[in-house]
Amino acid sequence: YRKGLGMEDKTILVIEDDPLNMELVKAVLSIDNYHVIEASDAHAGIELCRRHKPDLVLMDIQLPDMDGLTATRIIKEDELLKDVAVVALSAYAMEEDVQEAFNAGCSGYITKPFKIVDFLEQIKKYIELLKTQDADNYNKSRTWLDDHRFYLNKEECSIVNKEIGRIE
Ligand code: MN
Repeated sequence: YRKGLGMEDKTILVIEDDPLNMELVKAVLSIDNYHVIEASDAHAGIELCRRHKPDLVLMDIQLPDMDGLTATRIIKEDELLKDVAVVALSAYAMEEDVQEAFNAGCSGYITKPFKIVDFLEQIKKYIELLKTQDADNYNKSRTWLDDHRFYLNKEECSIVNKEIGRIE
């Protein structure tokens, strides 16, 4: 894995209600030194989004107070936030789920559990693309979606913490 460099100034807001998933995502993002802010429900997440204008939002789909796609729509309909990129995090990746996420305004879709290296590559790609202002066009292309959607099994989730220590 080639580490992302110069990411310290990139802020990622993680909206995730599962404490273990939150810890995992934070640990993985720390490999590339992103600045991470966190919220455990949609309302707190939208509030932090308004306050910090993050470079990227990682949005869990199932949240206690509101589903993540509704929260994404709220962000995308807000004149001040509509340019903030939202990437859905979900345990489900049926074709219609992915389409629904894109319809709600998500720029991407990451399935849980994920492979650490794939996850970091994907995040890095979003951040790089955001720099070029071309993320939306790129992400909406069918080819990209086919290349980057990955299906993973549950066993991989249980070994994920051990993997973190092995990444160079
Ligand atoms: Mn959840």
